[in-house]
Amino acid sequence: MSAPQVAGALPGPDSPSVARSGRGQREVFCGLTSIVWLHRKIQDAFFLVVGSRTCAHLIQSAAGVMIFAEPRFATAIIEDRDLAGLADANDELDRVVGRLLERRPDIRLLFLVGSCPSEVIKLDLGRAAARLSQAFAPRVRVLNYSGSGIETTFTEGEDACLAALVAELPEAAPAARSLLVVGTLADVVEDQLRRLFAELGIGPVCFLPSRDAADLPPVGAGTVFLLAQPFSTATARALEERGARKLAAPFPLGAEGTTLWLQAAATAFGVDPMHFNRVVAPARARASAALAPYRTQLAGKRVFFFPDSHLEVPLARLLSRELGMQLLEVGTPQLNRQHMASELALLPAGASVREGGDVEEQLDRCRTLRPDLTVCGLGLANPLEAEGLTSKWSIELVFTPIQGYEQAGDLARLFARPLERQMRLRC
Ligand code: SF4
Repeated sequence: MSAPQVAGALPGPDSPSVARSGRGQREVFCGLTSIVWLHRKIQDAFFLVVGSRTCAHLIQSAAGVMIFAEPRFATAIIEDRDLAGLADANDELDRVVGRLLERRPDIRLLFLVGSCPSEVIKLDLGRAAARLSQAFAPRVRVLNYSGSGIETTFTEGEDACLAALVAELPEAAPAARSLLVVGTLADVVEDQLRRLFAELGIGPVCFLPSRDAADLPPVGAGTVFLLAQPFSTATARALEERGARKLAAPFPLGAEGTTLWLQAAATAFGVDPMHFNRVVAPARARASAALAPYRTQLAGKRVFFFPDSHLEVPLARLLSRELGMQLLEVGTPQLNRQHMASELALLPAGASVREGGDVEEQLDRCRTLRPDLTVCGLGLANPLEAEGLTSKWSIELVFTPIQGYEQAGDLARLFARPLERQMRLRC
């Protein structure tokens, strides 16, 4: 299939080729999936999916059943009577939320999460959230966003959730300078980054989302923000509308990406370059040392990315530059050219980046190219394994702490493990 070049997307003859392949059938989980990591991060929030039994099954099986703790997600099931318009879904929802908040006084922030069924019956969750917020203020804040598979891929669910939170952030004083890190990070990663920023003398630093729902970072013209996740497009737009300024940087994956990401903040805060190097050198050296054995294992291996998590371009940069892998195709569901500019500039010349596309055509190309490693969604992994191709589940890269210096080795290991397994099977 010959895809059109996106005119003006990238400068220079040595740039990777970026093609938009249009829309087609795709094999990606819906945005509800992001509840799995969001509910672990925001520890006093509750996610109420307004959906079907299918939605309930998805969440239940993806997040597992917590036996010893009260769950912090649930599904308000839209019944046949609601779908047929025989019952007022708003009344039903008010009743469910009332019962939930009575039983769970620990909930401070409640998200009503839209699904395919709630969108099909045009249930206005924005109005419901406003009504319920008023009814339960000041104890509980009620927000809404869509996790529907009609609109979102699984990481975009997080983006929609964080964009809803931005509207709630308090206004910062005009002269107040601060750094905001945007995108869910595991607590261990957040703590490591906080320590590095403190040593660099950068502050105040806030994270969105934070662990505590009440801990809403102020935002205003003095706020600069760094994206920690590449799928935060709507959140970034909402922050810019509040006057904040995005710092251009690659994403904090691997020794190089983490250094450039921290450097963007250091430059914005006027940190002396000598001091920057002194602070980051030990951790950067540890990351490079952790990557070294995997480079021996992975160098020269050919990798193919199906579009899935939105992490594909930063991962491709890491795999090619720090681990010596050869990029056959880098598929990504959507490519935000502005947010990805620093990443695209680091990809090797001639790397093929494809936005969107049809899964059948991607499968054809993958089968023809026979990569050593295919990074794809769960639905494609087993059939490809059956055809003798070695796969890596891309969703694992979202569930695992992979950002920052100390996680660089673990991240590389995620790509080495399937190849090790394959070798053992062949012996
Ligand atoms: S939101 Fe849509 S795609 Fe996701 S589980 Fe529910 S019905 Fe399925």
